[in-house]
Amino acid sequence: MSRIDGLPPLREVIAKAGLSARKSLGQNFLMDLNLTARIARQAGDLSACDVLEVGPGPGGLTRALLHEGARHVVAVEKDTRCLPILAEIAAAYPGRLSVHEGDALKLDIAHCLRPPVRVVANLPYNIGTELLIRWLTPTHWPPFWDSLTLMFQKEVAQRIVAQPGSKAYGRLSILTQWRAEARIAMEIAPAAFTPPPKVTSAVVHIKAREKMLFPANEALLGRVVATAFGQRRKMLRASLKSLHPEIGEILARVGIAPTERAENISIAGFCALARALEAEKASG
Ligand code: SAM
Repeated sequence: MSRIDGLPPLREVIAKAGLSARKSLGQNFLMDLNLTARIARQAGDLSACDVLEVGPGPGGLTRALLHEGARHVVAVEKDTRCLPILAEIAAAYPGRLSVHEGDALKLDIAHCLRPPVRVVANLPYNIGTELLIRWLTPTHWPPFWDSLTLMFQKEVAQRIVAQPGSKAYGRLSILTQWRAEARIAMEIAPAAFTPPPKVTSAVVHIKAREKMLFPANEALLGRVVATAFGQRRKMLRASLKSLHPEIGEILARVGIAPTERAENISIAGFCALARALEAEKASG
């Protein structure tokens, strides 16, 4: 599918622009437009959606999103060398691609997007987790996006979707799954990228819940989870001691054995604990 859109094949585009990949920008480009189309399709029907893409680079995924019918793609790219390439794509899809030059960690472009919004990106690995956490913890819920379809290192993807009882289960799993449904949509081998990264990658699809899975004070839940997983090998009665002098009793009251470890506690359990601690605070 090198000519899905009348634009030249990606290898040609990259060679013509002299675009050598820069490690500092997390540049591992996807060259196969069949693969980028498969990734774009994980985000569902985009014809009535605006799409936010972070790091379009030479535009393999951007082209797929447009070809798959996205109503409008708003892309943020830090590397100015990519801008002329992206301008050619914009010309091939009049009025449907806006490119913003800059750092996605600094630019706030939510206001440039018309709902419903889906985020689809082959993220630079060095900022992927930070962006995910920001998207998951806005001031107001529901967030500006309906879903996130994002590339991560496979280990990070596994942490996002992990269930209690597994080594990968931790803060990132709870942070995500309390607010959203998350699944690994596909794995991608290093050879699919130019240059190939050292690790396998995975695309994660995250769909925002209308409201959080169980009630809890967000800040307190965050503190409980961070404290519990800060010492994940310890029993909760020890790791959570700093939160309340009678933590053992409070744990037992919400049905959690004080001898349990953080990795075995469900999101429902952490939320119940956060609510009990809040009630203690209010009564004390
Ligand atoms: N989407 C392209 C693809 O799939 O082939 C490129 C993906 S590459 C993994 C990551 C892209 O993010 C690069 O184009 C890089 O220049 C860009 N990038 C890196 N840091 C960025 C930042 N802070 N803000 C916006 N873009 C960034």
